[in-house]
Amino acid sequence: MSKSLLFIPGPVTVAEPVLTATAQPMIDHRGPEFKALLERVARRMKPIFGTERAEVLLLGSSGTGGLEAAVANMFGAGDRILACPIGVFGERLIAIARTFGCDVDVLETAWGSGVDPQALRAKLESAAGERRYAGILLTHNETSTGSQNDLASLAAAIRGCGAYVVVDSVSGLAASDFRMDEWGFDIVVTASQKALAVPPGLAMVAVAPRAWERMDSNRAPRYYFDLKKARDFAALGQTPWTPPVSIVYGLDAALDEFERTGPRRVWERHARYARAIRACAEALGLEIFSAEGAHSVTVVAIRVPAGIDADAIRKRLRDDRGVVIGGGQGKLKGQIIRIGTMGDLSQTDVLGALGALEIALLDAGVSLHIGSGVQAALRVFLETE
Ligand code: PMP
Repeated sequence: MSKSLLFIPGPVTVAEPVLTATAQPMIDHRGPEFKALLERVARRMKPIFGTERAEVLLLGSSGTGGLEAAVANMFGAGDRILACPIGVFGERLIAIARTFGCDVDVLETAWGSGVDPQALRAKLESAAGERRYAGILLTHNETSTGSQNDLASLAAAIRGCGAYVVVDSVSGLAASDFRMDEWGFDIVVTASQKALAVPPGLAMVAVAPRAWERMDSNRAPRYYFDLKKARDFAALGQTPWTPPVSIVYGLDAALDEFERTGPRRVWERHARYARAIRACAEALGLEIFSAEGAHSVTVVAIRVPAGIDADAIRKRLRDDRGVVIGGGQGKLKGQIIRIGTMGDLSQTDVLGALGALEIALLDAGVSLHIGSGVQAALRVFLETE
C-alpha cells in the first residue's frame, strides 16, 4: 500500500495509538469492562461539549444517524421548525426534518457566510403566537463551504425564544471551544471520524435536561435511534444495540491524547493549520470561498480559477503525489477544493501537501509563482510557534 496523505475533512488520519486501541480483543458489550469504558468515554466527552448538565450518548452510527436521532426524538409531524442552512449539511438537516413531517421554514444565508444573528433574531420575532417555532436547526461548522457559524452570537439571538435548538457539530466539535450549557443548546451532535480523529462508526449526542421533557411529549416514530432507550441503557453502562466496541476503544485512546495535549493547544493547532492553508491559497492568488469572519478551522474551501477543473486537480494530486483532498459538493461541485486540518497531521505534512498542490495547479495551467504558497504557510508556522 503506497503512503498517502489524507487531507479530506473526514474521515481523517488516525494516530497509531488510536489504531492500536481499536485492535484490542472483543469484550462482552454487556459486561463490566464495557460498562467502565462507556462511562469513562461519556464522562470525558462532556467538557468537549462544554456541558456539565447534558448526558452524552454514544450511538453506533455515522454523524447523519446522530442528526436523525436528534430531530426524530425532538420533533414530529406539523412541528414548525426554523432551519438555518449554510451549505450541504444544513440542507441535509432540512431533509431529515421534512422526512419526519416537520413544517420547515428556512432562513437563507449565502453559502460561504455564517448565519447573521440579527436576521435570525428578526425571523424568530416575526413568528409569534401560533406561528412560533418549536425548534431551530443550526450547523456549527459547515464542511461543504469551509465556513463556521459564530455560535455565541447566534445563541444570544435565540435566547428567550423558547424553541429547542439542535446543533450539528459533526465537523466542529473538539476543534474549537464549544459551550453547550452557556449557549443554551438542547441537543448537540458530533461523530468520531472528524476532529476527534477516530475511525468512523460512532455518533456522540449530548442531550440537555430540557430536551428529555420534550421527548416525553413527542410522538414521532423512532426505534433504533430512540434516545430515551439509549439513556436507560447508558444508566446500566450499556447501549440498546450492539455497539462498535473497537471504535469506542479508539475514542478512549483519542481522548487520552486530547487530554494530554490540552484543549487549547488542540484548538490552536486546527486554527494554525487553517490559517497556513488560507495564507498559501491567497499567496497563490486563489480565492478563499468562506467569507471573512466565517472561516472554519477544520476545513479550508478554495475557489478554483474559472476554466480550471477542480476535480482534475484533485485527481492529479491523488494519483501523482498521494495527497487526497476534498472537492465541491452539491452546487459547488467542480468549483472548489477543500483541504481539511483534522487528524494526525504534522506541519511537515501540511507543507508537503501544499507544495504538491502548487505543482498540481501549475500542471493544470494556473499561473503562479512556484513556492510562494508554501512560503506563506511556512511564515504562519514560524510566526505562531
Ligand atoms: N454534518 C456535517 C457538518 C458533516 O461534515 C458531516 C460529514 N461530512 C455530516 C453531517 C454527516 O456525517 P456522516 O457522513 O458521518 O454521516
